[in-house]
Amino acid sequence: MSTSFFGKYIVPEAAKLRNSDSYRTIPPVDDGAAREVVYSGAKLLNLASNNYLGLSHHPDLIEASIKAATRHGCSSGASRLITGNFALAETLEAELATFKYQEAALVTGSGYAANLAVFTSLADRHTVVFSDRLNHASIIDGILLSGARLVRYKHLDMEHLSRLLDREALAEKKIIVTDTVFSMDGDVAPLARLVELGKTHGALVVVDEAHAMGVLGRGRGLVAALGLSDDVDVQVGTMSKALGSLGGYVAARVETIELLRNKGRSFIFSTALPPAVLAAGLAALRHVKANPGLGARLMRISRQIRDHLDSLGFDTMGSTTQIIPVYCGRNRVALHAQALLRAEGLLVAAVRPPTVPLGTARLRLSLRADLTDDDLKHIRLGFSRLRVSFFP
Ligand code: PMP
Repeated sequence: MSTSFFGKYIVPEAAKLRNSDSYRTIPPVDDGAAREVVYSGAKLLNLASNNYLGLSHHPDLIEASIKAATRHGCSSGASRLITGNFALAETLEAELATFKYQEAALVTGSGYAANLAVFTSLADRHTVVFSDRLNHASIIDGILLSGARLVRYKHLDMEHLSRLLDREALAEKKIIVTDTVFSMDGDVAPLARLVELGKTHGALVVVDEAHAMGVLGRGRGLVAALGLSDDVDVQVGTMSKALGSLGGYVAARVETIELLRNKGRSFIFSTALPPAVLAAGLAALRHVKANPGLGARLMRISRQIRDHLDSLGFDTMGSTTQIIPVYCGRNRVALHAQALLRAEGLLVAAVRPPTVPLGTARLRLSLRADLTDDDLKHIRLGFSRLRVSFFP
């Protein structure tokens, strides 16, 4: 062990972090996807997980997981390209592709891995990738790993994107990429215009439906909701949020998926998902297909809560979905507000840079379809009380 490196760099950096207001700790939470969580011994309503439909604890998913583990064990044992394949994975891919109105799909270890697979397969150093400034970190990491040139456009600003595309007219290959629902702002991308720009400039359009899958468009996502399934080239998503399980996917044309299978580094060099996880994802997908109204209920609840927060004078930062930020600005304000809400029995995330831009720390509520009327009352009351501390 190099004690000099440890003593000289690691110890002082850890100490500096520990004394800063951006220090991260794992919250003392048990059963963190449930509607109610135990946090340091106290029961709190969980408005921090991405389990938007509450499916993680659904009996269909649990039963499917148990059956799959009993039949096939707990590991896939290798990457898909070696021996880590299951009929379950292929069924899941076929059903995902159909659900997303695409020719084919590929399942990956996580949504993070899906974005890495997309960019390491489709982009290279001859590619310019135009990326919304607030796109998820996995998109940025994928672009960087691919060696492509990253050009960031202002959040949701299609005029800016258009100017940048004009400026890069000579680039050999162009990709435009956006989250459909933004994870920290809860707003949505102007996809129709973005697709138009993609067509005009010969750019491939890639979208990340992580927070829209299961929720918008009768569960199929924003692309389907807007009738753009034939216009968006590549759709990335995850089963770790509304689908209550784990694992990412990419849905696209057959040849696109072939490239991913052959070149996607996170797909090739990582062990495949185990059967219990695949089975839960498949059960969740079937549940969403059979219950297309779940997302609409979630949107109704979200509108009610957002209206309440707006009427109290909080800044919900343009959210139109189940993800509702409450602007705080400084890190300390966000942490203080989070602690006050915890005392009210509500668990919300306090999101700070670098997850969000400097000076825009915020609370992040992620609402869920399994909230009861009493839960909604509880949330309204908690924020009404918080308001007194915020604007005394
Ligand atoms: N894309 C977006 C937009 C996300 O918000 C996330 C997760 N926060 C991911 C991808 C990664 O998905 P996963 O958690 O399944 O790795």
